[in-house]
Amino acid sequence: MRILIVEDDIPLAKGLQQALTSSGYVVDHAASGEAALDACLETFYDLLVLDLGLPGMDGFDLLQRLDPRRRGAVLILSARDGLEQRVFGLDLGADDYLSKPFALEELEARVRALLRRNQAQAGARLRLGRVTVDTLGRRAWIGDEPLELTAREWGVLQYMLLRPGQVVSKEQLLQALGNWGKPLSDNAIEVYVSRVRAKLQDAGLSIRTLRGFGYIIEELNVVA
Ligand code: CA
Repeated sequence: MRILIVEDDIPLAKGLQQALTSSGYVVDHAASGEAALDACLETFYDLLVLDLGLPGMDGFDLLQRLDPRRRGAVLILSARDGLEQRVFGLDLGADDYLSKPFALEELEARVRALLRRNQAQAGARLRLGRVTVDTLGRRAWIGDEPLELTAREWGVLQYMLLRPGQVVSKEQLLQALGNWGKPLSDNAIEVYVSRVRAKLQDAGLSIRTLRGFGYIIEELNVVA
């Protein structure tokens, strides 16, 4: 279970990081919204512990920029205790809300509850060749072996697995990936597709490039 703490109060962040790490989670820290956005583009976090008052991009801005399909649960931390703020955060898709100051035990209990809830929502499973993908849990396997993917590689694979045997254009992939972060170039799409392809070498499927059209993912025929 991977948690990202987004908090500009460094002593508080370090304290939380230490406590959650000793509870057995893998915990990263971002001190600004921008750093958090970058981290979320590279890594899938099961939970974001998100401070609202951040320099530059604040917690609400960050939440608006993250595609809910590509992030885990969000627990908002804030000194802002107004009902309006709370409702706004929840409307933006946050799962829970804790006002500062809070007891560490309460934060830990909320974290456990949110992560349990996430795990209970078993995602739809997509299968092609030897690849299995859990769309909600954002996990993938080749056979029984877990497949490690970055958030963008994940986006490419899931988008294509939902359309086996169909031509997927670069524009489609750009739209699928580009609207939840920084704009992407055509070249970047080629890079992500080739990384995914490299990771799927023994997966019983192929991603073919159709020049000028895009890509097509297909199951390889097994010769008996
Ligand atoms: Ca703050």
